[in-house]
Amino acid sequence: MTNGIPQVSFVIPVYNEESNLPTLVERLTKIMDQSNIILEAVLIDDGSRDNSRAMLKQLALADPRFHVVLLSRNHGHQLALTAGLSVARGSEGVFVLDGDLQDPPELLEEFYAKHQEGYEVVYAVREKRKEPWYKRMAYFIFYRILKKIANVDIPLDSGDFSFMGRKVVDILNQMPEESRFIRGMRTWIGFKQVGISYNRQERAFGDSKYTFSKLVQLALNGIFNFSEFPIKFVSSAGFLAISSSLIYFFYVVIKKLFIGQVIEGFTSLLFVIILFGGIQLLAIGILGEYILRIFFQSKSRPNYIIDQEICEGKLVK
Ligand code: UDP
Ligand code: MG
Repeated sequence: MTNGIPQVSFVIPVYNEESNLPTLVERLTKIMDQSNIILEAVLIDDGSRDNSRAMLKQLALADPRFHVVLLSRNHGHQLALTAGLSVARGSEGVFVLDGDLQDPPELLEEFYAKHQEGYEVVYAVREKRKEPWYKRMAYFIFYRILKKIANVDIPLDSGDFSFMGRKVVDILNQMPEESRFIRGMRTWIGFKQVGISYNRQERAFGDSKYTFSKLVQLALNGIFNFSEFPIKFVSSAGFLAISSSLIYFFYVVIKKLFIGQVIEGFTSLLFVIILFGGIQLLAIGILGEYILRIFFQSKSRPNYIIDQEICEGKLVK
């Protein structure tokens, strides 16, 4: 049965999660059965190659509270989330979480209560992570660097797991950014925001669907979309190099004129040439990162393509 327009939508991207789906669906169903809030669960299939797609489709046709979107191919987590946010109907807001049960859906009531106190965004802060030490270390360093250099004050150790009020969702939906770093965009939007800490669980089944290169891409999007530090760093490095070489030049000339010594030092010269060659390549690479983003944005392609959408038990697209 449907019970009217949902107040809150769960928004959950799914990519090859067939082993997690049964438990996820069971837990969501239990919450939707028991809660006083009218809920829908928006599940976005991000071009899965396992059975997830078929399972989701079947689920949405059987239970109208499951609102399913099937993307045309794997667009990546951030864009799958974007697609989910744009179709979510929750009139009061959305609760975004991962499909691998690392973020407990049962926390909805707690997050929703905070939203009702007047916070437009309630984001989860990971107190403890049950992930391999090298991953934890990489995340730890990344979030601290980002905090130092980003233009907006992106909270430490918080991912996309959050409750966002309708106002924020509508604004996000209007932001056409191509290389999306949603946790940063969410902070940029502003209003009253608050963090709630939680212990991030271990992934229930299967392996992480974020490959190393997808993770690096996400980190670069965070840095290059929210900071001008890299490009400023390049110009300062250039300035420093020019001034030190000028100082050195005068030093050599004076030495030659007044002391008459000839300077030796082929090795050090080679070193400096290679060093500055490297710095120049790095500088070009950094410029490239910004230009690349302009390039993709200027094509203004849609961020994702929806293949099918099933809402209230009916195929709507
Ligand atoms: N995911 C997705 N598309 C992708 C990669 C991941 O929709 O290309 C989903 C995945 O199914 C999960 C969520 O995004 O629900 C988070 O991914 P994952 O658990 O693999 O990331 P991790 O927790 O390891 O950072
Ligand atoms: Mg995960």
